[in-house]
Amino acid sequence: MIKYRLVCKKCDMVFDSWFASSNEYEKLKKNKLLNCHECNSKNVEKTLMAPQLINNNQNEKIDRNIKKFKEVSKKIKEYQKFIKNNFQYVGKNFAYEARSIHYDNKNKTKGIYGTASKNEIEELREEGIEAEMIPWLEDKNN
Ligand SMILES: [Zn+2]
Repeated sequence: MIKYRLVCKKCDMVFDSWFASSNEYEKLKKNKLLNCHECNSKNVEKTLMAPQLINNNQNEKIDRNIKKFKEVSKKIKEYQKFIKNNFQYVGKNFAYEARSIHYDNKNKTKGIYGTASKNEIEELREEGIEAEMIPWLEDKNN
């Protein structure tokens, strides 16, 4: 025995019906022996099982999110590599170093990178010092 959830296309009634097999369902359907419990319409269809449908959608969504996260973190890592190769790391002294470059006209060939709070970045920008915040992923290989 197999239970199908059927839906009436005419009145939207949803009801469960038991069949000996999926073949029996197909046969009844073909011979127009299925009818709506509510309005007797023959326009009755098997619905997809709801829980399965929900799970598939959720899995797809999770897969998409994981894929997206991997793409984004790959971009971030490439960016980090570029910064590490081209900028000088100043750690928590970022705001101080950025100011000293800006005000003392230090001829540094390299840009700097380091950590700063959001407030520090805003203050630097107000003073006309270019600073960008980027997401940073901890590199476990280092
Ligand atoms: Zn109906």
